[in-house]
Amino acid sequence: MSNWRADKNAKALERLLRSLPAVFPAAVRVHALARPLIPPMPRRAVESYWRHHPARADKIARALARRSGAPDGWTWQLGDGGSFRVPPLPFRDPAHAKGPGHCCVCGQPVYRFGWHCDLWGDGAPNKRASWHSACVAAWKLWNAPSEHVMHLKRMQQHRCRVTGGRLWKTAEIDHRVPLFRVWRNHRAEPWPVLLGYWGLPNLQVINRPAHVEKCAQEAGERTMQIAPATPEPFG
Ligand SMILES: [Zn+2]
Repeated sequence: MSNWRADKNAKALERLLRSLPAVFPAAVRVHALARPLIPPMPRRAVESYWRHHPARADKIARALARRSGAPDGWTWQLGDGGSFRVPPLPFRDPAHAKGPGHCCVCGQPVYRFGWHCDLWGDGAPNKRASWHSACVAAWKLWNAPSEHVMHLKRMQQHRCRVTGGRLWKTAEIDHRVPLFRVWRNHRAEPWPVLLGYWGLPNLQVINRPAHVEKCAQEAGERTMQIAPATPEPFG
């Protein structure tokens, strides 16, 4: 380790230990102290923890969303310029937002450091917060799963989910149920269930040739199924 990094880490560690409250999620503390560059603030430690555990973040975010359920009268719609590729977030809509201290991804209260449960007995959410750290990490996974390809490869023991062969360097992330089909065939499913199509249950890493072939089949299906009577909201 370079002197520069050792010095920086010593300072970060000192700062972190000074600002860590007596009650703090143990797993986050262990994670933070094991980083090659130690996050200097508890909040940053929490963010780093979820960034490095996208699968856990995805699970928690969807579990929290289940607790909220969809707001009354809400249905998934593509507004102006909306895309079926973006996971629907009803609580981000001002009409359904739960107000300060609630997460705009899952709708549940946010506590200190963006944590999702009140470990500190504060009894009230942090009014300045509008995201859980876990939900931010989940949102990033849902919108840019390719950035987590290494993580997902490891979860699949480096095996291609289509061919069963070893994953190559060029392997790609695929939605088992393609997102256009989620919008076309599954959009009436209850909201928290919908999020699963962007999460781990619907993500797989497959080798490039298998992916190209799958995409070609899906493209055929997209053109074939366009019913002339009901214009599709996408091209
Ligand atoms: Zn949340």
